[in-house]
Amino acid sequence: MVERYDVVIAGGGPAGLAAARTAAAEGGKVLLLELQAQIGGQTQSATWVPTNVITPPLKESIVANTKEVRLHSPHKELSASGDFGTIIDRRLFDKLLAAEAIASGAELWVSCPVKELLLSGDAVRGAYVEAGGWAERIESELVIDATGARGEWSSLLLRKVLKRDWKRELLALSNEYLMANVTNDQSVDLFFTSYFAPLGHAWVYPFGKRFAMAGVQGVRIHPDAALDEFIGRRGVPRLERAVPVAAFRGQLPLEGPLSQTCANGIIAAGGAAGQIYVLSGQGLRYALRCGEIAGKVAIDAITEGNVSAGVLADYERQWRAEFDAELRAGQLLHSSLSVSHDQRMDALLSALEGKPKLQRAFIDVFTGFRLEGSLKVLLKDEEISRVFGRETVEKTLALK
Ligand SMILES: Cc1cc2nc3c(=O)[nH]c(=O)nc-3n(C[C@H](O)[C@H](O)[C@H](O)COP(=O)(O)OP(=O)(O)OC[C@H]3O[C@@H](n4cnc5c(N)ncnc54)[C@H](O)[C@@H]3O)c2cc1C
Repeated sequence: MVERYDVVIAGGGPAGLAAARTAAAEGGKVLLLELQAQIGGQTQSATWVPTNVITPPLKESIVANTKEVRLHSPHKELSASGDFGTIIDRRLFDKLLAAEAIASGAELWVSCPVKELLLSGDAVRGAYVEAGGWAERIESELVIDATGARGEWSSLLLRKVLKRDWKRELLALSNEYLMANVTNDQSVDLFFTSYFAPLGHAWVYPFGKRFAMAGVQGVRIHPDAALDEFIGRRGVPRLERAVPVAAFRGQLPLEGPLSQTCANGIIAAGGAAGQIYVLSGQGLRYALRCGEIAGKVAIDAITEGNVSAGVLADYERQWRAEFDAELRAGQLLHSSLSVSHDQRMDALLSALEGKPKLQRAFIDVFTGFRLEGSLKVLLKDEEISRVFGRETVEKTLALK
């Protein structure tokens, strides 16, 4: 027997779960398929997010509130205090979100990788799943691709419909350790040096009282070697006696959002659509919101009886109206800092020295948590503007 649904969602990360919750709450018959044996199974790491994206039922996943951020460039260090967002346990966060999707009426199947899309002409009409000798064709009016950007089967729209892969030269690779035996505080350390992390950065996040997450993300690196080098050489005081107890590899496309995020019968949301703020690699908040928009547009299109690319373009219009300028600002600033990265980061930290308001503005801009307002404060400063370059500053401030 062939299973039939209104919406099949591939991927049980934040984008897929938010889409499932919304589409089911809008009355759709929804099935979410997750490749891993458990929801939140792939992304087990901590994630740094703005506090306001963690709504009450999801607050259980908070493991730290960041009160201080220490910035390290090759030859400079400074520390800024303030309210700089929240660190969550992604494994738990994704499970809590799954519980909400189920409560809205969505069905969730784990250990179900989508291997192929079912096509009728050039329109996507379902998914083919195959695992452990078991296979099934699942038909649907529409598929939401929420497969992220990390595995060989991820980003179905990109690979199966647009028939390309992420640009290798703009694909950041990362590795992150959960470290035990840590003397923790509520601070985040960010390290900017092309030695460990070309076109990226390294970090240490608190994870509860006794653990920390230490990670490295960069282009053309061997992420395992880079992370060992970072931890071994850098001498971060709170990691002096720490030992890794788990490792998480990942990848992050730095090329920005796909120019096309929907086609006939398919919408991509979150990492699968490249909705990532590349300056810091933040993506959870876009995944949540774009998943939500995708779920709503999907049900509206199905109700209208037309799931063509033309109708689904409403998704593209809505998410771009909310995030396109923000994501492009991140890309412009990232490209500017990528040139002579180490010198620029030293110059940037020198320009921030002794200016607490500007330090906070830089962290808000780097994370993208409070871009509006902070971007102007930061880039209107003469010294900072010289570091980013006049052209980048003008283009960034002109974004609407
Ligand atoms: C090392 C690292 C650190 C990061 N830190 C932060 C941070 O601090 N803050 C932040 O906001 N963002 C961070 N990000 C980015 C953030 O993780 C992503 O933007 C976010 O997870 C995207 O959510 P998503 O649901 O689109 O994809 P994902 O979270 O990647 O979820 C995709 C899901 O789809 C499943 N899947 C894949 N292929 C298939 C298939 N064929 N069939 C079925 N299921 C499939 C996967 O198993 C996975 O569960 C980080 C990323 C990395 C790599």
